[in-house]
Amino acid sequence: MSHPVHDIIRCSHVTVRYGARLALADVTASIPCGTATAILGPNGAGKSTLLRTLLGWHAIENRGEIRIGDTHAHHQLPRLAYLPQRHAIDWDFPITVRAVVAQGRYPSLRPWQRLRPSDHAAIERALGELGINDLADRQIRMLSGGQQQRVFLARAVAQGADIFLLDEPFAGLDLYATEELTHILRSWVAQGRTVLAAVHDLALARAHFSQGLLLNTRLVASGLIADVLTDERINEAFRGGRCLHDHANPLRGVTTTDFPA
Ligand code: ADP
Ligand code: MG
Repeated sequence: MSHPVHDIIRCSHVTVRYGARLALADVTASIPCGTATAILGPNGAGKSTLLRTLLGWHAIENRGEIRIGDTHAHHQLPRLAYLPQRHAIDWDFPITVRAVVAQGRYPSLRPWQRLRPSDHAAIERALGELGINDLADRQIRMLSGGQQQRVFLARAVAQGADIFLLDEPFAGLDLYATEELTHILRSWVAQGRTVLAAVHDLALARAHFSQGLLLNTRLVASGLIADVLTDERINEAFRGGRCLHDHANPLRGVTTTDFPA
């Protein structure tokens, strides 16, 4: 018996701590294959921690585990591509676009092994898919924010991944680049790829992601985005919504129109 959509990622009882600080508490959730899932929640909710835990960067406590497909996540790492938050990248580092995209091939090489013809082909395909062939010999610091992001998305594609973990990919993008990114994510999903992205703009999540995973250290809700982003659950995750008009609140960029009446 097969279901139309199966769960490609299954987190069960995932608890992660930084020293004494609890970052994820007993999170159990599944991500359907070939869909776009928004990870939502206030600052400090554990969104980035969840993405990094999928990559095996944080120890999971006790009986918790993450499975990808039918096996432990650590057997599936080449399938996972990661786009860090923008501020985690050194944009002044002198490196060309093609060299960044080539980094996507390194995990599949032995130490010091040179790129093979198949690697060069994968790099060119990725540049083409993201429409940045013309920029291949430019330095990344010379590009616009939207172009820079395409370079890192191309690196993820060059890796041959089918699961894309994106940490706040919309942060800092202008309207045009935001639109472009939504098109890219849609085309990935149409190709059967799975997208998991931390998103802080609830309206954007509602418009462009079919699935949601709402966190506040604990899992508040997961499933279809419309079922996850009810005002009751948003209030629960963002603690009463009382700080809506507070500019220091975690809902930067979110207006009251994001909340159903
Ligand atoms: P989000 O991405 O939702 O803003 P994070 O996953 O970055 O949340 O953080 C979850 C919690 O873990 C927060 O309380 C944060 O302060 C803490 N945290 C995150 N990274 C570290 C770290 N490297 N060391 C200690 N605490 C951390
Ligand atoms: Mg984060």
